[in-house]
Amino acid sequence: MTPEERQAALETIAAEVTACTRCRLAAGRTRAVPGEGHPNTEVVFVGEGPGQNEDVQGRPFVGAAGGLLNELLGSIGWTRDEVFITNVVKCRPPGNRDPEPDEMAACAPFLKRQLAVLDPALIVTLGRFSLQTFMPGERIGQVHGTARPVDPETGAEHAMAFAMYHPAAAFRQAALKETMQMDMCSIPAALLDARTRRAPQAVAPQVVASLDIQVPEDRVGALVETGADASERGLWS
Ligand code: URA
Repeated sequence: MTPEERQAALETIAAEVTACTRCRLAAGRTRAVPGEGHPNTEVVFVGEGPGQNEDVQGRPFVGAAGGLLNELLGSIGWTRDEVFITNVVKCRPPGNRDPEPDEMAACAPFLKRQLAVLDPALIVTLGRFSLQTFMPGERIGQVHGTARPVDPETGAEHAMAFAMYHPAAAFRQAALKETMQMDMCSIPAALLDARTRRAPQAVAPQVVASLDIQVPEDRVGALVETGADASERGLWS
């Protein structure tokens, strides 16, 4: 898939999310929140569901939790437009209650399709609902800061999942902010590991020296010309 095709596919999914009435959350939303970010990224962050600010703006993680997520990304030199950010459910549960199992099931095909298009190397789960999607049965207190292979049934065929607490948890329990900072610092190494696993021969040694996650502009054209597929994205520095 070329970068243009990937962008178009993400826009098609976003349009369907915006018009979706598959579950009761549609009735209470101001705006659906499909997700946003770089179509060529190797890293996808998956939260729980939109809160009040996200519902108003139609964008993920733009409230207080989003502020902390931006800060954490900044601590490793990344910005939110270099990654893709989305949620398990795309519409706000009323009063920020937990999403119900049937609501998550109704929304799951959208996330699956987004992941199939993005084909990320690394999925960062934010909070327990996202964790259950990518590491079923695991407990956040035990697995935060660690990564494991993702079931291709999720739509991400060649990805590792990396578990993190939800940023909002740090507002309820201040000590978790330091835990989240430490976990975030492990993400670049987790990405390198994920790259190596998906294309062991293709990872050039110099990649280890650089954690840049974007395909440089001059390589995008080369990718299109050679018809290189997503498994080759981001393997240069
Ligand atoms: N919390 C989430 O899980 N997702 C958002 O988009 C915002 C807050």
